[in-house]
Amino acid sequence: MEKKIFLDSAATTYLNAEVLQEMLPTFDTVYGNPSSLHNFGRQASNLVDNARDQIAKAINAFSSELYFTSSGTEANNWAIKGLANANKDKGNHIITSQIEHSSVMESCRYLEGQGFKVTYLPVDKYGVVSLAKLMHHLNKDTILVSIMTANNEVGTIQHINAIAKTAKRHGALFHTDAVQAAGSIKLNVHELDVDALTLSAHKIYGPKGVGALYLKKGVAIENMFHGGYQESAKRAGTTNVPGIVGFGRAMQIALRDMKANNEKIKAVKDYFIKKVKSNIDGVHFNGHPMQKVPHIVSVSFDYIEAEAIMMMLDLEGIAVSLGSACTAGSIKQSYVLKAMGVDKDHLNSTLRFSFLKSTTKHQIDYVIEKLTQTVEKLRDLSPLTKKTKRSK
Ligand code: PLP
Repeated sequence: MEKKIFLDSAATTYLNAEVLQEMLPTFDTVYGNPSSLHNFGRQASNLVDNARDQIAKAINAFSSELYFTSSGTEANNWAIKGLANANKDKGNHIITSQIEHSSVMESCRYLEGQGFKVTYLPVDKYGVVSLAKLMHHLNKDTILVSIMTANNEVGTIQHINAIAKTAKRHGALFHTDAVQAAGSIKLNVHELDVDALTLSAHKIYGPKGVGALYLKKGVAIENMFHGGYQESAKRAGTTNVPGIVGFGRAMQIALRDMKANNEKIKAVKDYFIKKVKSNIDGVHFNGHPMQKVPHIVSVSFDYIEAEAIMMMLDLEGIAVSLGSACTAGSIKQSYVLKAMGVDKDHLNSTLRFSFLKSTTKHQIDYVIEKLTQTVEKLRDLSPLTKKTKRSK
């Protein structure tokens, strides 16, 4: 029997069956344009309102504070550029971290080209941003701080509430990219005290191509797109009704099942880590051991290239990732691991295993069997293994 095991949930997830059911009528029955005033439009508009309510409720926001986008990438671009440009009369300094998703990083780099100054805060060996370093860099020109809630390569969770409070005490706005945190930890925008927060549907068993930006009432932002009056005229473009409806339901289910899913995924993750440690020598786990989302495990393997492991596992029907999905393909060394001070010998030998809520221990047994064989095979071929063994 052909095996297919997907251990890349940090890149994307499958669509939950309940979500698909919710979306289906929007393709052929309730297909009106929500901006239309007739009955077809009103029906579609009601579905979009309902989804907005579902997501707003899940993060304890008002529905009017939620803006749908085409992705987490768009929401991050909008938050960084839109907040910076709308507040540039107050200052030109932005603070972010060295381990943000590329959509935050590249937006910041773009703004540097437009005359803004950006500080990229370092992290410790676990990928944690230091509050003291943030305080050191905040100054009267700082208008925006953006720190992700959970990292997509190693899973480390930041002290968002403390960071947000510190930023705001200094008069800066605070944005967090919560794409990898949604579904794993409760995101209460009031308790976290954030001004803006990014979400994406396809990481929580919702459809691809839809995200959202939470923007606190009264916070000024430059419009994302100009045109029609969709999304309170801040983000023009015909509404993605199927995506939004799916996103709303996915968020509702993620919240409903969070505790059970976390327990299930944590048990699978712990089992995986135990088996890797007992079956394979020369492995190193990256990221914070506790302060992390349960679905992501980053492992470095001595002496061998992660790319080779990944391709050999792929031949066995096992999908894992070299790093974040967005940098995979270009096969660049991970700036996240570099920022964490990971040994340079391990920068090309690190894999990300990320578990689905449906991943079973039975699947992990198969993965461990194939991973152990693969690592042994590659180490037998590796000149580095031979050299190290000879010098011992
Ligand atoms: N932020 C983080 C932390 C992510 O992991 C991702 C996706 O990999 C994104 C943002 C981008 O989200 P999207 O795929 O919806 O553009």
